[in-house]
Amino acid sequence: MHTKKTIAFYTLGCKLNYAETMSYYAKAMQLGYSEVKFSEVADVYVINSCTVTSLADKKSLHAISEARKLNKDALIIVTGCYSALNKQKILEETEANIALSLSEKNKIDQVLSGNYVISNDNEFEQQIFKTFFPAFNTEGRTRSFLKIQDGCDYFCSYCTIPFARGRSRSQSIADTLNQIQEISASGINEIVLTGVNIGDFGKNNGESFLQLIEAIDNLDTKTRIRLGSIEPNLLNNKIIEIVAQSKNLMPHFHIPLQSGSNTMLKIMKRRYQREVYAEKVSLIKSLMPHAFIGMDLIVGVAGETEKLFNDSYDFIKSIPVSFIHVFTYSERKGTASLEIEPVISKKERKYRSKLLHKLSEKKHYDFLSSAIDTESEVLWEHAANTDYYMYGFTKNYIRAVHEKIPDVINTITRVKIVEQKDKELMKVKLV
Ligand code: SF4
Repeated sequence: MHTKKTIAFYTLGCKLNYAETMSYYAKAMQLGYSEVKFSEVADVYVINSCTVTSLADKKSLHAISEARKLNKDALIIVTGCYSALNKQKILEETEANIALSLSEKNKIDQVLSGNYVISNDNEFEQQIFKTFFPAFNTEGRTRSFLKIQDGCDYFCSYCTIPFARGRSRSQSIADTLNQIQEISASGINEIVLTGVNIGDFGKNNGESFLQLIEAIDNLDTKTRIRLGSIEPNLLNNKIIEIVAQSKNLMPHFHIPLQSGSNTMLKIMKRRYQREVYAEKVSLIKSLMPHAFIGMDLIVGVAGETEKLFNDSYDFIKSIPVSFIHVFTYSERKGTASLEIEPVISKKERKYRSKLLHKLSEKKHYDFLSSAIDTESEVLWEHAANTDYYMYGFTKNYIRAVHEKIPDVINTITRVKIVEQKDKELMKVKLV
């Protein structure tokens, strides 16, 4: 093994990347590295990149140059989706030492121990597109991301993820339950199930996401389980009904909509119409009035005329979601969207994004206000010795704050929500 000892991580993008970084971190710790912050001088920098938008590309490249500025002799390793699609560019045009393609990213422990020769074998690359690499760790202190699925079979017209991550595949229900028990036994009280398209879990091995949900619901565990992003057409009603009565699964949903216009949904090659989304949200709210529902939206996609945007906006406004993750469209190489007209000007994309951010703020404010005087349970996160407050999330994903009580850190306590402390934070009292 080489002599480098300190390591810093920088993660961009989705929860799946975070899950994968956590497993790289665990491997680095096993190899004897010690972690430093990304803003500090390190011997090795690992940048887990993202390419979902051109901004994500820019941030990935910026992280490489920041790392180089901090240490001209550091080993800089780039992994993740931007690296998977731009390995050559990174090696030729940036100061990174190693850019990992899709097939190489699970070899990070070998890279870190200096024992891995990077392969350019295309056949191997194709095989890897169909292989599932598990990723989870037990090193975090309060919450763990558990990767249960990778890749996507959908090819939405604006998206490069299927090119960067390959086709949908997942691990078995038995492995997932074992990993949940392992993480739980290490003292972590909350797990977020992540993937690119977790609703397609099991498709490759004769199991289904519904079966996984049933199995988790029946699990004897105190660990809380949150579901990552699920496509509306894959979120079947039975799953919602199980979550509504489950002690293990939290009333917290993340359902991408992407556009509230049916015409745009067709142009974007999404596999549902907006009525399906409305129906799912209405069922969730009827069974769990205080459930948190996050929505993803992309604005300014080619083809989104002003009329279609307005139609989309009105629909979104009418849907009782709790928060909107707004993404501004940017052209991605190799996608079908590049052929679609009209192209929306950058200025207009920005303007629409701003409108939706405002709408999201209002929806989040309404959601938090409606929670005042309700009771829930908070998992309190670790806090520094010097901190006066402690923070945590309720079951329905409301960020809660309370004066610190050291004894309750990393435990779950019942609370009453008292008042709004700031835009995203609610003051609670223990009950
Ligand atoms: S469902 Fe569509 S947007 Fe989501 S990863 Fe697959 S192709 Fe991309």
